[in-house]
Amino acid sequence: MKNLSPLVVASHNPGKAREIEVLLSSLQIKVTSAAALNLPEPEETGNTFEENAELKARAAARVANMTALADDSGLVVPALDGAPGIYSARWAGETKDFAVAMACVEKELRAKNIEPTGTPAFFVCVLTLANPRDEVITVRGEVHGKLTFPARGNKGFGYDPIFIAEGCRQTFGEMKPSVKQRISHRTNAFKLLLKLLEQEKAA
Ligand code: IMP
Repeated sequence: MKNLSPLVVASHNPGKAREIEVLLSSLQIKVTSAAALNLPEPEETGNTFEENAELKARAAARVANMTALADDSGLVVPALDGAPGIYSARWAGETKDFAVAMACVEKELRAKNIEPTGTPAFFVCVLTLANPRDEVITVRGEVHGKLTFPARGNKGFGYDPIFIAEGCRQTFGEMKPSVKQRISHRTNAFKLLLKLLEQEKAA
């Protein structure tokens, strides 16, 4: 995919948009946000992270008439059959209260007689780059770890305070953003995307 600049980051979630913009800062391209362009937030009707990322990127590329980068992400708890998964944002309800969403994860595990602290979980981030010619590139990044309760730390967003990545002691909520950024699912997806773009350039 050629001519990435200008690029719109098609996320209405300020926490995610901030992380994506930091990741993009190494590329010399002009970046704008969905909020700045007043883009509508499409309904996430897909059944997978990939379907949702693609529908968000395609919609933004069409409306803004520029290349768009969208992310669909969430927390996957295998013991809950993958929940909250693609419904991670929705578990926080209308008021986007993640204390409610995190309490819900704990409650659902207890309902299955599973000790919540120590339960394996992972974050997924699917990134899709789409342009107005409907060319699409999609990649997936993950970071694996375990859950901990009660929630700890207020540096991140979403489910960060209950997630401890493999080999770490702090939750994502306790880590400095730059430390989370080194190992996060979003960074892993981003590295793959950059690799694909470089391969295309070299081809
Ligand atoms: P969506 O991709 O807009 O559907 O929202 C994904 C939801 O997953 C977010 O609202 C967060 O609750 C959660 N999520 C995604 N990435 C992270 C992360 O890095 N930390 C914590 N929660 C996350």
